[in-house]
Amino acid sequence: MIGALEAGGTKMVCAVGTEDGKILEQVSIPTTTPGETMPQILGYFKGKDIRALGVGTFGPVGVRPGTPEYGFILDTPKLDWRHFDLLGSLAPLGVPMGLDTDVNASCLGEMTYGCAAGLESVIYITIGTGVGLGAAVEGKLLHGMLHPEAGHILLSRHQKEWQNGCCPYHQNCLEGYVSGPAIEKRWGKKAADLADNPTVWAMESYYIAQALADFILTLSPQKIILGGGVMKQEQLFPLIREKTLAFLGGYLHTMELEDIDNYIVPASLGGDQGIMGCIKLGLGALGE
Ligand code: ADP
Ligand code: ZN
Repeated sequence: MIGALEAGGTKMVCAVGTEDGKILEQVSIPTTTPGETMPQILGYFKGKDIRALGVGTFGPVGVRPGTPEYGFILDTPKLDWRHFDLLGSLAPLGVPMGLDTDVNASCLGEMTYGCAAGLESVIYITIGTGVGLGAAVEGKLLHGMLHPEAGHILLSRHQKEWQNGCCPYHQNCLEGYVSGPAIEKRWGKKAADLADNPTVWAMESYYIAQALADFILTLSPQKIILGGGVMKQEQLFPLIREKTLAFLGGYLHTMELEDIDNYIVPASLGGDQGIMGCIKLGLGALGE
């Protein structure tokens, strides 16, 4: 049995599963303050007889083992969690632990148990309350100096855009233009209630496709997986595929781009890609 913790800004999903990625049981604990939330998480895993724990967490977070920040939540706007030693607070469980960002965990879940099995270079993008990118390059989850923060890449404005994005740091970043709250700010309604308005999805897909073209040109992924609440609008997929090819302008010729319907795809694990990725992070801590 392997423990899995998907640490999110609103809830903590705790689960136990087996090494083939099967989730046997899972619970959800509200993310309030570390003082309130952590004892509940520890309480859940105590007595579960887990061999290891994998943690996928919101960030920014220190993901480089051996650095002083490893396992710490860094400069999050959630002040109660800022500089909190997440991994250290789980040490009383006494099992080996693996840790990465929530989106890297989802990427790993899809690469181990889902639609990206067998591939080495994959990106996973979540478009929800925020926008995050997880990436594996040549079989290794990408960290670098921190970890990718590709939700904040800068984009050129749509011709009909009339305002700055909603990110407090950037006027024209991906998250500020395409997240759920960004859609709500621009159109004055929740994204789910705008399903029938084609102008909304034309603009949304314009920005997402622009970002994907940049990621394709930079990271050369073999597959791009799109998840998160906003991507429940399935009509986005054909729009994004078509516009991504248009932004690439015919410059690249690869087998993958020829088969664009199988290149830019929805998450395949029914919302469990993150927690299943955490199982794999736990296995990784055991060297398996
Ligand atoms: P989070 O990013 O907080 O982990 P989600 O991925 O579920 O959670 O994203 C929540 C965001 O997705 C909200 O801003 C919400 O408006 C948007 N959203 C949720 N469901 C839908 C839907 N069916 N269509 C479009 N947007 C949605
Ligand atoms: Zn930004």
